[in-house]
Amino acid sequence: MFVEIENLKFRYKNAKEDTIKNFAMNVDKGEIISILGESGSGKSTVLRIISGLEANASGIIKIDNKIALDDKTFIMPEKRGIGMVFQDYALFPHMMVTENILFGLKGFGKKEKQERLSEMLELVSLKGFEGRYPYELSGGQQQRVAIARALAPRPALFLLDEPFSNLDADLRSKIREEIKVILRQTGTTSVFVTHDKEDVRALADRVVVVKDGFVLRSGNVNDILGN
Ligand code: ADP
Ligand code: MG
Repeated sequence: MFVEIENLKFRYKNAKEDTIKNFAMNVDKGEIISILGESGSGKSTVLRIISGLEANASGIIKIDNKIALDDKTFIMPEKRGIGMVFQDYALFPHMMVTENILFGLKGFGKKEKQERLSEMLELVSLKGFEGRYPYELSGGQQQRVAIARALAPRPALFLLDEPFSNLDADLRSKIREEIKVILRQTGTTSVFVTHDKEDVRALADRVVVVKDGFVLRSGNVNDILGN
């Protein structure tokens, strides 16, 4: 297993009960897994814990055989090899497309930066948009910048929070296909969360259904959702 998550528990400060209770999940290398659940079921919280943005979780998280979390270990978010696309994309509004993507490549050499930038612009079909600011882009284009920024450093694991919820209905299926091509082309091990079964059917290899912070069931998409 490329990603192993066991017995994850988490409580927000001031909350009366655990938001995440015994969450577990495995992901194979190159797999696309979906976490499906209603609003408030804990999907975003799980992604934040995996990426290290919530520090007070317990349980075990292993990524590529390296422990990111256990009783004795907490690896900082930037050291986990995770790329994340947030629901609102979280682009830097004062930075052009190129600067947003280059932000993900801090610490890379000058030549490699330019090569990766060019590859990413190609991958997400944004050649010609290098000098635009986020407000000069459509929602779908902004999302592709967020994807390029997150994939530029070749993360071991790619997390997407509700990647389709801000898109118009007619754009959704187009963007789902685009993202699928990008993830398959790059062989990126990915976890995306959604409340929409159609997203799962279109994109996921397997699905983990969550309710109130625990795993209700998980498995093959057709087995869980029916044909
Ligand atoms: P989802 O992404 O599935 O909609 P979330 O993970 O955002 O769910 O939220 C799960 C639960 O945790 C909800 O009940 C939500 O109100 C609560 N919650 C989310 N963020 C915080 C926070 N910062 N402090 C306290 N409770 C929170
Ligand atoms: Mg959420």
